[in-house]
Amino acid sequence: MQTTLRAPITFDGHGLHSGQPARLTIRPAVAEHGIWFKRTDILLGDTIVPAIWDAVQRSPLCTRIVNAAGVEVQTIEHVMAALAGCGVHNALIEIDGPEVPILDGSAAPFVRGILSRGVRFLTAPVRAIEVLRPVAVETANGWARLSPAEGLIMDFHIDFADAAIGTQEKRLNLRNGTFVRELSDSRTFCRRSDVEAMRAQGLALGGTFENAVVVDGPEVLSPGGLRHADEAVRHKMLDALGDLALAGAPILGHYEGFRAGHAMTNLLLHELFQTPDAFRMVMCDTVTRARLPGVGIQPEEIPAVA
Ligand SMILES: [Zn+2]
Repeated sequence: MQTTLRAPITFDGHGLHSGQPARLTIRPAVAEHGIWFKRTDILLGDTIVPAIWDAVQRSPLCTRIVNAAGVEVQTIEHVMAALAGCGVHNALIEIDGPEVPILDGSAAPFVRGILSRGVRFLTAPVRAIEVLRPVAVETANGWARLSPAEGLIMDFHIDFADAAIGTQEKRLNLRNGTFVRELSDSRTFCRRSDVEAMRAQGLALGGTFENAVVVDGPEVLSPGGLRHADEAVRHKMLDALGDLALAGAPILGHYEGFRAGHAMTNLLLHELFQTPDAFRMVMCDTVTRARLPGVGIQPEEIPAVA
């Protein structure tokens, strides 16, 4: 069965890139609603923005969705990952500004909030997107691919010049609360050498050593260091889950990302949906449902450090 939250939950913070304050409230929604954002600071016109792959517009370093009236919400990926990772299919996310609060830079605060309210079952079955044959996209920097698999399997590879990140690879099957245990507390990261360039472009204006892991060569500058030795690749997987959630339904497939990022995962969804014989919608029975990310979550399994 599809799910929603039992009660609303509110988060206050500021945007990583805009630096602007924002209050975000995730509200329960009916079956077949999906995930939508609503800008409560805009009083006229169409203020609802669908969290769906073809509403994504190009944006450096984050995922930004825009509706037909030009109303936008950016940096949606961590709250989207939290909803997907907790198996929440329907919600209305109200926000009074253009950017989702970054909180601690991970998805753990969103996960804690969602699980504190609890998940309610609705009277409609879950549909999933079953990948039937491989689709891939490639750029000069890397590639991403989706191929058939029984559940959502994720492989990710990154390499950075800074020794504090270096080359990292990870593979996870995202069933049985894996997202909450393994990925949800990993924070966004950047290289100190990129900070000035980002700020010159009006990005990362709300970034701090507390809400992002900042590295400089072999050094981790953020106080307290890393939450996991491979926190960077874990965060990239968290981002990928949030970006894949824009498919509009859970994916049964094997995602591989090689130096992939937000734009590439979105391109991959475009490629999937433009290839009609590469996927089909399936009703989830209990066996299939048990393979989806939200099943089997125990709130106490969120790593204590987050
Ligand atoms: Zn991220």
